[in-house]
Parts: sequence; C-alpha cells; structure tokens
Amino acid sequence: MAELYDLAIVGTGPAGISAALTAKARNLNFIWFGSKDLSAKVEKAQLVSNYPGLFQVTGSELKDAFFGQIEKEQISITEKSINQIFKMGKNYALFSGQESWMAKTLILCMGTAPSTTISGEEKFLGRGVSYCATCDGRLYKDKTIAVICTTPRLEEEIEFLADLAGKVYVYVTYKGFSLTRDNLELRKSYPAEIIGENLVNAIVERKLPGQERGEILAVDGVFCLKDSYSPVSLLKGLEMEDNHIKADRMQQTNLEGVYAAGDCSGRPYQYAKAVGEGNVAVHSAVEYLHEEKKNGEADIF
Ligand SMILES: Cc1cc2nc3c(=O)[nH]c(=O)nc-3n(C[C@H](O)[C@H](O)[C@H](O)COP(=O)(O)OP(=O)(O)OC[C@H]3O[C@@H](n4cnc5c(N)ncnc54)[C@H](O)[C@@H]3O)c2cc1C
Repeated sequence: MAELYDLAIVGTGPAGISAALTAKARNLNFIWFGSKDLSAKVEKAQLVSNYPGLFQVTGSELKDAFFGQIEKEQISITEKSINQIFKMGKNYALFSGQESWMAKTLILCMGTAPSTTISGEEKFLGRGVSYCATCDGRLYKDKTIAVICTTPRLEEEIEFLADLAGKVYVYVTYKGFSLTRDNLELRKSYPAEIIGENLVNAIVERKLPGQERGEILAVDGVFCLKDSYSPVSLLKGLEMEDNHIKADRMQQTNLEGVYAAGDCSGRPYQYAKAVGEGNVAVHSAVEYLHEEKKNGEADIF
C-alpha cells in the first residue's frame, strides 16, 4: 500500500514554502508538490519593498533566498502538478498523471493562475469530461476521445490514453507536438464547445478560415490536461467564495483536514499574507492530526 503522509502541500509559492518550513519544524511526515522554480509570481516581481527582513529585493533575489532556506532545511520538492484529489475515507488521494499519493491532511497553496475552461467543460465534468487519465482512462477502452493539452509536460498522458482508446483527437495550445500514433489525430482547430445530452457526445470546433462553420466530431469522452485547475475541479465539494477557496482564520476549509493558504484563499494578494497563512495552516493541520490520533481514527479509511 502507498505511504500515508501526515500532510500533503500543493504549491511552491510563498504560502507553500512557509507551510513546508513549518511542517519540517513540526517534524511532520509530509510531501510537497510543485516546481523547483517555486513560483512565477515571485520570480517576475521587479522590486519587492514590503517583505520583512529583506530590503528592496528583486523577485529573483527573493526566490534565491527562499530556495536557499529550503535547501538548508533539506526539504525536497516533488516536481509534479496535481490534477485530481479524492477523499478516501478520512484520507485524501492525490493524483498526478499515473502516479498517486495518500495523505491525512492537505494544504492547498495553488495561487490564482487563471484556468480557461471550454464551454461545456464544467457542465460535463464527471459525465464524459475528465482531468485524470489514470482515474478515467479505462472507461474509454477502444472508444473515441478528444484530448485537450496545454503543456508538453503532460504528453505522456496522451500516450497512455492512446494505448487505451480506439481513436484520439488531439488539441494542443503549444508548438512542437511530436507524438505519432496510428490512432492519434492532431487537429488544426481548437474546441469551441463540448456538447451532449446526459453525457458528452461531441466536440464543436472553432471555424477555420474558409470554413462556413466549425466541424463537429463525435466523441465518447474529453480529457482536459492542463497546467492549472480550478480548486473545485481538483477536489470535489470544496466550498468557494468570490472565486477563492473559502477558509476561516485558521485556514480551515469546509472539508475536514483540508486547509487553504495564500492567493487561492483570497485577497490581498501579498507575499506576507501568503507566508502567514501557510504557517497557520500547518498549525491547524497539526491540531487536527493530534485530535485524530487521540480519537484513534486517523489511519482508518
Ligand atoms: C509581477 C508581480 C509582482 C508582485 N509584487 C509583489 C510585491 O512587491 N509584494 C507582495 O507582497 N506581493 C507581490 N505580488 C503578489 C505575490 O506574488 C502573490 O501574492 C504570492 O506569490 C502568492 O503566493 P502563493 O503561494 O499564494 O501563490 P503563488 O506564488 O501563485 O504560487 C502558487 C504555486 O502553486 C503551483 N501550483 C498551482 N497549481 C498546482 C498543482 N495543481 N499542483 C502543484 N503545484 C501547483 C504554481 O505552479 C505555483 O508555483 C506580486 C505579484 C506579481 C505577479
């Protein structure tokens, strides 16, 4: 059985960094997902003049300072983008492509990267639209599917799906797609709408020059493989407020054992707020784990 972590932290911006440093200080058995580049929102800042302890630093200098501290604490980053989280009993299963991990608590620190959705995507989520090849790929054995991919990092997911499905229409938002398979067809257009009745049954493409209207392709399912996902599509049942994850002053969300910190939990979008909330979220997770241990329930799922 997969290792069961005390805590999984999703996101390597200031909120996630603060959470990871605090989790280390509290000796938690934790796993941290994101990127060694940390956060584009740190790197891109021209001049940061309101972060305590560092006088007028560039974003790149702030990133180096963060990274140096992580290295000194010997904290490792699992360079994976989480694309689906499920509650399993009292614990949570996190998926990235075909890999998965289990944790008793979660801290979501994903920032606010806008994730564009195609018309019909949210309506048919779970009814033919999927974000997770590992979770749902087998449902489409020998069937016709469309895959919409926004990053070359997820191309191995397309290969996995092509091994299962009969026919795969591929739409990418980047240049240099090079996979070739007999059952793969790279489309020139891009989906305008996902349509169906109870379940998905077709993709309506954008009109190309010279066409009177976009083509309509019959499909059984649509996989959306993206760099970032809206929190609700990542973890079903998460309560939102004004496009942010709803969390209280202890960073507790509406789901037991799940905390949100940083930009994803609301304004103002600031490093100091993100760092503070990452710290608070770990303290809340520690308290929850302590209570669960007392009740002797934490390992049951
Ligand atoms: C140009 C610019 C300048 C700024 N200047 C300042 C300033 O001077 N002072 C100030 O206080 N604030 C400033 N900010 C705001 C500040 O950058 C943000 O408030 C801060 O970065 C928020 O931190 P965060 O950890 O919540 O999210 P982010 O920094 O956005 O980090 C989120 C991380 O999560 C990762 N992630 C997302 N989804 C997943 C997933 N599914 N799986 C794994 N990882 C995932 C992302 O890749 C990213 O690394 C600036 C922002 C910008 C864009």
